[in-house]
Parts: sequence; C-alpha cells; structure tokens
Amino acid sequence: MAEFDVDLFVIGGGSGGVRAARIAANYGAKVMVAEEYRMGGTCVIRGCVPKKLFVIGSHVHQEIEDAAGFGWSIGQVSFDWATLVANKDKEIARLEGAYTTNVEKSGARIVKTRAVLEDAHTIRLATGEKVTAKYILIATGGAPNHGPAVPGIEHVISSNEAFHLKELPKRIVIQGGGYIALEFAGIFAGYGSDVTVVYRGDNILRGFDEDVRKHVRAEMEKRGITIITGCTVAKIDKHGRDFTTHLSSGSSIASDQVMFAIGRHPNVRGLGLEAAGVAINPANGGIQVDGWSKTSVDNIYAIGDVTHRTNLTPVAIREGHAFADTVFGKRPVQVDHATIPTAVFSQPEVGTVGLTEEEARAQYSHVDIYKTDFRPIKATMSGRDTRVLMKLVVDGTSDRVLGCHIVGDCAAEVTQVVAIAVKMKATKADFDATVALHPTASEELVTMRTPTARHVRQAAE
Ligand code: FAD
Ligand code: NDP
Repeated sequence: MAEFDVDLFVIGGGSGGVRAARIAANYGAKVMVAEEYRMGGTCVIRGCVPKKLFVIGSHVHQEIEDAAGFGWSIGQVSFDWATLVANKDKEIARLEGAYTTNVEKSGARIVKTRAVLEDAHTIRLATGEKVTAKYILIATGGAPNHGPAVPGIEHVISSNEAFHLKELPKRIVIQGGGYIALEFAGIFAGYGSDVTVVYRGDNILRGFDEDVRKHVRAEMEKRGITIITGCTVAKIDKHGRDFTTHLSSGSSIASDQVMFAIGRHPNVRGLGLEAAGVAINPANGGIQVDGWSKTSVDNIYAIGDVTHRTNLTPVAIREGHAFADTVFGKRPVQVDHATIPTAVFSQPEVGTVGLTEEEARAQYSHVDIYKTDFRPIKATMSGRDTRVLMKLVVDGTSDRVLGCHIVGDCAAEVTQVVAIAVKMKATKADFDATVALHPTASEELVTMRTPTARHVRQAAE
C-alpha cells in the first residue's frame, strides 16, 4: 500500500497552483488540487482578465471622441453597464470551465473545498475528510487589504466588489496610488464616472521611474481624473445612497461609491501553518521560501502571491512550473526574479522593465538617460491633448540598456518585446543598430542618439 494518499496536494486552484498541478500530473504524479472558490483564481476570476476586459471596453468612449478628427460623425451613443458585467461574467465562466477541464485532463483531481494543513503531510478538507500527501504546495494567493479601521469602512468596496457593481457609479472616490487604484480610475472614468483618486504620498506609483510617475499623473488629469495627494481617507458618512468621504486634509468629497485599493496581503490566515511548522517571512508576512520555493518544512513548497515576492500572474505560473520540474521532473529549475516586465493598465498605460533612473544611479557610476516626450501621430488629427513618454536608462560604462519605461497607449505591448532585449543584456549600440519601423511610436526607442542627461559619479562620491 502507498505510504501517502497522493504524491502532491495543491492548496489553491489559481494561476500558480493550476500550472504546478498540471505539470506534476504530466510527470506521472498522483495529484489533488483544492479550490475553495472558483478555479482560475484571482487572475481569471477577479483580477487580470476581467480587469483587461473592462479596460478594453472603457477605451471606446475616447475612440469615439477621437474619430471626429478623422471625419467620422457618430450619432447618439449609449452604454449599458449591466451588459458589460453580464458579458464579462459569461467569459469568466467559460475560462473557469477551461481551467477545470485542463486540470482534469492532466489526470489531477479537483476538490472544490477549503483545505488546511493538519501536519506536514496531512491536509484537512472542509468536508472533514483528511488526505495525506508526500508533497504539499501552498498556492493560496492573496486578498485585498481592508485598510485602517476608519469610521464608515464598512461602506468601502475593494476590487473584488468593483467587478460586480449593479450600476456604474456616477462619482467614485478611490484610495490608493498603485496598480489597482489607477487601473480602476481609468476604467470608471472611461465609462463616464467622475473619479477622484486619493493618495497618501506626494505622487502616485511609488517605486516607478520618477518621469513615469509625473507623466502618467499629468495624462490622467488631462483625461478628467482628479488626483489628490498627501492625504488619506479619514471617515466615510453614508446618506441614503450617497457617501461623503472626509479626508485627513479636512476637505470632503461626495460620491456614490468609495473604493480602497491599498495593497493585498498573502492568504495565510487559518491555513494551519503553525501545526505543520511552516514559517512566515517576517519582512512581508508571506510564506518564507528559498530559491526553490521550498518552505521551512522539507516537503512543503509555496508559490505565487502567498509568498509575497513579485505578485504577478506570469511569475506565479513560472514558480509553479519550476516547482513541478524540480520535484517531479528531475529537472531542477530556479525562477529568475530579475528584470520582470510589468504594466499598469491605467489610461494611458505604463510599461516598464529593468531599472528606474533612480535605481540605476544608485547602482552604477555612469548612467546615460535617453528620453523623449512627444505627441503621438493619432493626436495630430484627433486633436487630443496627449503625449507619449519613452525612456531608456543606459549604463554609460558597458553601454548596456538597464531599463526601459513607456507611458502611452502602446506601452504594455511594446514593453513585452523590449523586455527580451533588456533580459538579453542588449547594449544601446544594439538598439541603435536596429532599423526603425516607421511610422510607430516605439521607433523612438531605436532612434534616440544623444543622451538627454548624463550622470557620472566621481570616485570620491
Ligand atoms: P491566486 O490566483 O490568487 O489563486 C489562489 C487560489 O487559492 C484562489 O482561487 C483561492 O480561492 C484559493 N484558496 C485560498 N485559500 C484556500 C484554501 N485554504 N483552500 C482552498 N483554496 C484556497 N497580475 C498580472 O500579472 N497582470 C495583471 O494585469 C494583473 N491584474 C490584476 C488585477 C487585479 C484587480 C488583481 C487583484 C490582481 C491582478 N494581478 C495581475 C495579480 C494576479 O492576479 C496575481 O499575481 C495572481 O493571480 C497570483 O496567482 P496565485 O496562483 O499566487 O494566486
Ligand atoms: P499596490 O501595492 O500596487 O498599491 C497600493 C497603494 O495603496 C499604494 O499607493 C500605497 O501607498 C497605498 N496604501 C497602502 N497602504 C495604505 C494605507 N494604509 N492607507 C492609504 N494608502 C495605502 O497594491 P494594489 O492593491 O494596487 O495591487 C496589489 C498588487 O496586485 C500589485 O502590487 C501588483 O503586484 C498586483 N497587480 C498587478 C497588476 C498588473 O500587473 N497590471 C494590476 C493589479 C494588481 P504607498 O505607495 O505610499 O505605499
């Protein structure tokens, strides 16, 4: 008789868990996956995918406005939020089905229930059943932070609820200056809401390149989004269906929705980590792992957002795949977390890969900056007041391109491709040797010849 019920028990059927389960099963492992909500996890059910669908739809209004300069005259237009939400839900249900089918096709078994650890080899299901496993993979993801317990916090929605609102808010206040706050600000503004972003710091997107932060803020403001910095939400009062949001600055804003997008925390609560001896990383509250995604317990691994390393879908997928290759495929692989491209699907988009100017200047003694800020060709006829930012950060000593930062409607797509060059350690000379593709916005990346700034640190500095 086998020593354990299964070779691998995966807790969480999201991006990382699903990939790990499928690959391990392909290697011949007997695999069970527990999912307490819906297969596909955050990305598919209430993250990247529904968000991108909302973003795509919210561009239409601007397209219609821009069309006039090209001779189009479009009559009365109308938009129905309920149709958008219903069609999005249909697509998400289809994807959930595809995720389920793919896992089952691999031979892994799905159990639709919550699972927690009882000890290092035993999992307890919410049904009361216990399963023993040789290896356990924790891939439970994360959840929105509810934030400080200000009066009226019970009225505040997170991104989870934003996907299922019954009506498009006429006015919405969004607290936060990161990915989710800016993406939803663009979404709601695009569909016609009056949007106010409240951010505690001096400028949005802390950690991004300073030029990017300034540029995206200015562009969002041009699109009618109000951005209030240097304060927080202190209190929310409800009057019938309306809210008054009081800020720490003393001012207040009337709206019919209030949303917080103030970060996410790893889903570790009540998981039985202590019973199994799995340690938490005191620096970030996620599960502590080594370069192989192994926890403090030899047979228990953790991947994706629950480890709070780089909380992005492709990273969770890669970590899940590497785990399965290492443990079941006898092909040891460590995930390289350096130079991961990322995009904020704000309007306009931000795409970034590699070092910011500030990071490069801290690490390298000679940094050259190539930066351009221009009116995209479409705006010349649409008349829209908008500009694109493209920036390369170059190590002046080795000529290597250390970072690329773009703000503009094309940013995410362009950044994915530039990331290959940056990851391959391409030099500025390699960029220069590449013939431009005309007329595009991204041709600027291979035609900027003269540094717009040069930072050389003296030896004594
Ligand atoms: P998840 O996908 O969160 O999966 C974890 C699963 O575990 C969930 O289904 C959960 O129900 C289940 N679970 C938890 N506890 C248990 C338990 N005890 N028992 C059983 N099941 C359990 N990333 C990008 O790269 N690009 C984007 O554009 C992007 N947009 C985003 C937009 C939003 C609004 C949000 C919230 C996130 C976005 N992300 C994006 C981040 C991305 O969704 C996550 O990084 C990714 O989903 C992490 O995958 P995961 O497998 O670690 O966890
Ligand atoms: P972020 O970490 O991106 O942003 C959180 C924001 O909330 C920051 O501006 C932060 O300010 C602010 N904040 C944090 N705590 C408080 C507080 N107590 N009061 C007021 N403001 C506060 O988190 P998000 O929630 O936007 O997204 C979570 C993660 O999900 C992202 O970091 C990303 O990894 C992933 N994601 C990725 C997307 C993509 O790839 N396009 C899209 C959406 C999410 P400060 O900067 O001052 O700390």
